[in-house]
Amino acid sequence: MPLPSPAYFTPGLDADPELAAAINGELARQRDGIELIASENIVSALVLAAQGSVLTNKTVEGAAYARYYGGAEYADAIEALAIARATKLFGCRFANVQPHSGSNANAGAFLGLLNLGDAILSMNVAAGGHISHGHPATLTGRDYKITHYGVNRVSERIDLDELRDLARAARPKMIVAGGSAYPRAIDFAGLRAIADEMDAFLLVDMAHFAGLVATGLYPNPFPHAHVVTTTTYKSLRGARGGMVLWNDERLSKRIDAGVFPGVQGSVMLHAVAGKAACLGEALKPDFHAYNEAVLDNARALAATLADKGLRIVTGGTDMGLMLVDLASTGVTGDVAAGALEKAGLAVNKNMIPFDPRPPEAPSGLRLSSNAGTTRGFGVSEFEKIGDWIARILRDPSDLRAIAETRQEVLALCRAFPIY
Ligand SMILES: *Cc1c(COP(=O)(O)O)cnc(C)c1O
Repeated sequence: MPLPSPAYFTPGLDADPELAAAINGELARQRDGIELIASENIVSALVLAAQGSVLTNKTVEGAAYARYYGGAEYADAIEALAIARATKLFGCRFANVQPHSGSNANAGAFLGLLNLGDAILSMNVAAGGHISHGHPATLTGRDYKITHYGVNRVSERIDLDELRDLARAARPKMIVAGGSAYPRAIDFAGLRAIADEMDAFLLVDMAHFAGLVATGLYPNPFPHAHVVTTTTYKSLRGARGGMVLWNDERLSKRIDAGVFPGVQGSVMLHAVAGKAACLGEALKPDFHAYNEAVLDNARALAATLADKGLRIVTGGTDMGLMLVDLASTGVTGDVAAGALEKAGLAVNKNMIPFDPRPPEAPSGLRLSSNAGTTRGFGVSEFEKIGDWIARILRDPSDLRAIAETRQEVLALCRAFPIY
C-alpha cells in the first residue's frame, strides 16, 4: 500500500526546511518502528487535523458560554461537544476538558478539592505511581503532605490492608489511585471504603486504562471515585492533554476553578477539538473491538516473553501495559531499551517494585500493546514482537541480531502502514 507523502500531513511545512526535515524524520520513525511505549498511541487523521487547525488562533478563557473574550461562538460549541462526548463515553455527569496535560488535570483537581498542606496518600513512583501524584520534585509534592503507598512484596499488587494502615496513620484528605506502571485491576470499591473512613476524596487517575473503562473491559472507577482524571493521548488515542470527570455537582465549581485559573490560563482550543474528535471515535463500536484487541495482544506478548524465561511483574497484566523484570537476563533496562531501539522497537526502561537498581539503570522494561494494536497488529504480530525482544535481550551487543531484527521489524511495519 503506497503511503501518502509527509507533506500531506504537514501542509505549509515547506516554508521551514530545517523544521520540516525533523518533523518528517519523526513521521518516518513512527512509520518504520514499532511503538511499545505505554504513554503513546497513533491518532487518526481527524485528530491530527483538529490539532493542526485554525483553532490555534483563538484565545478563550473560562467555561464554555461564560467566556471572558468575545467571538467564542464556535469555541463554545467545540468545548461543549467535547464535554458531551466525554460524559456520554464514561457515563458521568461532569467533565472539564481544558487541562493541558494529565499533570494539570491532577494539579487542578488537587487545588480545587484540597487546602494547602492537606495530606494526600498516593502511589509511590517506584511502585508504579505517577510523578504528578505528589512526587517531591513537583509542585504537588511541595504543596501537600504526601504519604506514599506501594505494592505488596509478594503479590506485587496494591495491598488494601497495608494501604488502610498507612491511611489511618496519615489521615489523608485525598487518596489517589492509578499509576503509570501498575499493570493490574484496582479495587476501587475497597479504596472508597478506606477513603470514607478518613472522610477523604478518592481520585482515580485512569490515564493508562481510560479506553478499557470506556468499553467496560476494566473495573469502572466512576461509581466509587469522587473525581477521575485522565490523559487523552494514551489509551484514548487522541489529543495531547487531560480531562477531569466527576458526578457530584457540589464539586463542580471547585474543580473548574482548580483547573482555571488555578493551574493554567487560556484554553488550548485546538487540543480541546482534538479531544472532541477522539472521544467521538471512542463512542463508535470499533473502539470496543480495539480495546479487546489491546488486551488480547498484551496477554499474547506477556505470555511469549514468559515462555522465553522473562519474568512478567505480577505474572501478567489486566491492561495494555506490562512490566518485564530483566533480572534473569543480567541486562539492565537502559541497555535493553537502547538495543531494542536500534532494532526498531521503542520501549522504556522502568523500575520494578522493590527494584534493587537505580532509576537510571533499573531492572525492568515497560511495554504496551496500545499503539501496535492501533496499527492493526494482532496476536501473531505481538508473538513475533515477543520473540524479537527475547532475541535482542539474549545479547544486546550482538549487532548482527539487531540488524536482522531491524529488517524484520521494518517489513512488519510496511505491512501495517500508519497514515
Ligand atoms: C501520563 C500520565 C500522567 C501525566 O500526563 P502528562 O500529560 O505527561 O502530564 C498523569 N497520570 C498518569 C497515571 C499518567 O500515566
